[in-house]
Amino acid sequence: MALTREGLPERTCIACRRKGPKEEFWRLVRRGDGRIELDLRGRLPGRGAYLCRRGECWRRGLKVKSVAHGLRCPVALEDVEGLFRDLLVLAPNRGSEE
Ligand SMILES: [Zn+2]
Repeated sequence: MALTREGLPERTCIACRRKGPKEEFWRLVRRGDGRIELDLRGRLPGRGAYLCRRGECWRRGLKVKSVAHGLRCPVALEDVEGLFRDLLVLAPNRGSEE
């Protein structure tokens, strides 16, 4: 795993491929039952994937294909739509100001 300059594990956004420390990303996790959830505390077990917290990134880049690639598993459209709904609640106004 690559490290940042500060020596922290580096994450890669599944939508835009930007890299950075994990604080800059939302973590998605595939649970044991196959559901995909936002892991707000970064502690849920399961395979994780990362998305920039910047609004324009996930609004444009969160696609079934990118999530499936990031989590290395088949992903249903309704799972991705559920993630969108969660993200809109968490970050309704993020994006344009950054
Ligand atoms: Zn991104």
